[in-house]
Amino acid sequence: APPPPAAPTDREARAARLAEAPVALRINGLSKAYGGRPVLQDLNLVVKAGEVVALLGPSGSGKSTLLRCINHLDSWDAGRIHVGGHRLGYRPDGQLMSPADLARERARLGVGMLFQQFNLFAHLTARENVAGPLRWVHGWSAEDADRRALALLARVGLAARADALPRHLSGGQQQRVAIARALAPGPSVLLLDEPTSALDPELVNEVLEVIRRLAVEDGLTMLISTHQLRFAAEVADRVVVLAGGRIVESGPALQVLQQPGHPESARFLRVMA
Ligand code: ADP
Ligand code: MG
Repeated sequence: APPPPAAPTDREARAARLAEAPVALRINGLSKAYGGRPVLQDLNLVVKAGEVVALLGPSGSGKSTLLRCINHLDSWDAGRIHVGGHRLGYRPDGQLMSPADLARERARLGVGMLFQQFNLFAHLTARENVAGPLRWVHGWSAEDADRRALALLARVGLAARADALPRHLSGGQQQRVAIARALAPGPSVLLLDEPTSALDPELVNEVLEVIRRLAVEDGLTMLISTHQLRFAAEVADRVVVLAGGRIVESGPALQVLQQPGHPESARFLRVMA
């Protein structure tokens, strides 16, 4: 009898699951210019629920601008962005939302964002940084918000530092508080903009490890711009390479990283390796 087929690897199992998963984020024809100079050019991207996409590309290629557009922190000139089937930022009559409505909508649809600079409230403790927005933006009671904050700080390994102010935490710890804060409202999509590039090298791994666990254990949908190629190879399902505001390549992470099919991505990967 022929040998039984080899058990699918984790990566194959993930790919099979993602093929059946609903769309979490859909971008069609997204274009944006600053003062007549294009920075995003006709981008098309679909991210499935539970998928981890690494966004690679040289400095200035448009990674931050793309992530900011998805969260409506930036406006754009043409194209559509749908999160979970909803067109974020527009009222049913097609008019742009007010900033206040947009903040509520962002909270409701669950787009979370993590920035390169951790942006913690300097005068609030770690637990207050996580609990505060739950109360102010999401209307949680103080007690529920605090309980959730403590649980999430434990999740990122900071239970013992819950009452510390940001200035008494290392950069890696501050970024982990920022991750807990981004996770607090239960986002459907988490956008991470170079989450480790402001960190001293010895603090990078503790943050990448937390992100890796969110991908593997929590099945979170994530779009991560990063220069950490090894991390992208280990954690990302798909790699998207931006160059000059265009997506020059998109494919299975290992395939793109090991055998880039476009000269721009090959050049970028050679420089970064
Ligand atoms: P990346 O994150 O890949 O480094 P960015 O999205 O920050 O790239 O920038 C893409 C391009 O848009 C760059 O050329 C940058 O100079 C330009 N840019 C970004 N923000 C602004 C702005 N507020 N005004 C004018 N140009 C900008
Ligand atoms: Mg950037």
